[in-house]
Amino acid sequence: MSTWQARVRAPRECVVLLSGEKQAQPTHLHHTGLSSWDYYVTMPMPASTFTLAVGCWRQATAQLSTAQLTPPVQGTRAGASHTHAGSLDLNPFTNMDHPVITSPQSTLVYSGLKDEKHSESDCSGLGDDNLTCCHVDYPCPFTDPSAWSQGVIPHRVFAPPSLLQKAQVQILPLLPGCLAAAHATLGVHPFPRLDVLIVPAGFSSLGMASPHIIFLSQSVLCGEREGDGERDGVGGERGLSLCGSRLCHELSHSWFGLAIGARDWTEEWISEGFATYLEDIIWARAQ
Ligand SMILES: [Zn+2]
Repeated sequence: MSTWQARVRAPRECVVLLSGEKQAQPTHLHHTGLSSWDYYVTMPMPASTFTLAVGCWRQATAQLSTAQLTPPVQGTRAGASHTHAGSLDLNPFTNMDHPVITSPQSTLVYSGLKDEKHSESDCSGLGDDNLTCCHVDYPCPFTDPSAWSQGVIPHRVFAPPSLLQKAQVQILPLLPGCLAAAHATLGVHPFPRLDVLIVPAGFSSLGMASPHIIFLSQSVLCGEREGDGERDGVGGERGLSLCGSRLCHELSHSWFGLAIGARDWTEEWISEGFATYLEDIIWARAQ
């Protein structure tokens, strides 16, 4: 078990997503064409759950602009990307028409239920069981009273430009309901925030859950599977159900597979069993 902190430098047009408790904002390193991202966790986790994803993605927001849907300039390297900056804003988070992200507060969706009056050491009134934790000292979400009332944690969705519109229409609206349903079913969210990244159809599974990050395959999006649009239309009920239940499956791994899990990977079926059992329960609640 370990904690970690990381500073990642990447070309400015890239997004760096990493298992970390706070949503990092990039610091632009002038004269280099690079951005620097800082992440950390204080909750001891198996090092095997550490996840890093770097790519030319865009954040799905309520409103998309043409600049967000424009593929990033290919082949830019440190020191060379400045030549393109005048014609295209390479910052994946901003564009000239809609400066959608200017601060952490504006990038994240909050439930508004957070109670700032409680301190981390005030464990009174925690759920029905007045739960206390006995592990090593760290700011445990299970003993944070404000976490107990936060059904919808801050969340964001990222996708390559070609899938951004589908991510915006299909995944972004599903997330609050699925997060709230997971919270109603399983209790406090083990992790204080979540990024969902749409990965290519060639990804080895339909989804993968890591601390603070879920990878969802392009294949779960409506209209991306063979036969979509023939039986019940793109975005039809069947497609929505596949997408939603897969999302709920990955969400439930925050509790089963990450917060707790098998001692080694040979017993991973236990976590998968819980997640598979819970995906329909949470999805039914989310609708
Ligand atoms: Zn699973």
